[in-house]
Amino acid sequence: MGKKSFFEPISGFELPRFAGMPTFMRLPHVDLNHDKITEVDIGIIGAPWDAGTTNRPGPRHGPRQVRDMSTMIRAQHGVSNLRPFDLKNCADLGDIAPNPASLEDSLKRIESYFSKIKDLNILPLTVGGDHLCSLPILRSLSKTEPVGLIQFDSHTDLFHSYFDGQMYTHGTPFRRAIEENLIDPKRTVQVGIRGTNYDNEDRDFAKSEGIRIITIEEFFERGIPDVISEVKSIVGDEKTYLSYDIDFIDPAFAPGTGTPEVGGPNSFQALDVVRKLNGLNLIGADVVEISPPFDPSGGTAFLGSSVLFEILCIMVK
Ligand code: MN
Ligand code: MN
Repeated sequence: MGKKSFFEPISGFELPRFAGMPTFMRLPHVDLNHDKITEVDIGIIGAPWDAGTTNRPGPRHGPRQVRDMSTMIRAQHGVSNLRPFDLKNCADLGDIAPNPASLEDSLKRIESYFSKIKDLNILPLTVGGDHLCSLPILRSLSKTEPVGLIQFDSHTDLFHSYFDGQMYTHGTPFRRAIEENLIDPKRTVQVGIRGTNYDNEDRDFAKSEGIRIITIEEFFERGIPDVISEVKSIVGDEKTYLSYDIDFIDPAFAPGTGTPEVGGPNSFQALDVVRKLNGLNLIGADVVEISPPFDPSGGTAFLGSSVLFEILCIMVK
């Protein structure tokens, strides 16, 4: 072991993992006013906001439970032996402050926060929050040029509007992102899509724009290596954002989410899809829709933190 760096997570040999104040993966807490902020390479950020939720709310409580459960994570990857914290300066940047009484203001607050992150050259790894959080993040990160998108989800989140013409919900972020030229539809791929539908409006839009949808049936028929190799070829070497909705995973393994769909991947497969995604040109990533009120045991948040760690391991390379 080398010399101890400020950015190293607290080891379980130094302070037991059940002790101390929980930050993401026991990393140092470095907010935007901290004098070490300019040294951060990768920032893990909480977005405790779920005003886009149309059915069962709760992801506003996600970041806090994920921080708690993420203290279970050790510094070395179990398969590759990679030690991400030795390679990049990682820190818990704390939470964005949304406006709990205003959706519009919260969208602005999240966008302005991530513009600062972008100016600081920090690679953001965000913990939601519901899936509408991804829209203001993309508004700041890909303002100047559209990026590719890899989305693990059981839903497309490509709907035009919901309930009397509401344009901003967790079912519409990527429709808005395409309208606003934040993501390139030809470099957008959605994996794990399944479940009952109101209609085919989202799928028709995807088809007309050239978005690639890999349904769960195709996912299981072809297998993970083949599917992930296609995902990589769709986004290529250009800038790409990764968005991981926890409802991609089967509710037997991730019950703590607002819009579960049965017939999904297990927890091994949930991690394996990310592990096989190495070599991307990522500009940021998020894990969203973890809803602690629907899983007080914390199992979903633990799986979510494990997905975060897998993403971190592909981000440092
Ligand atoms: Mn989603
Ligand atoms: Mn979903």
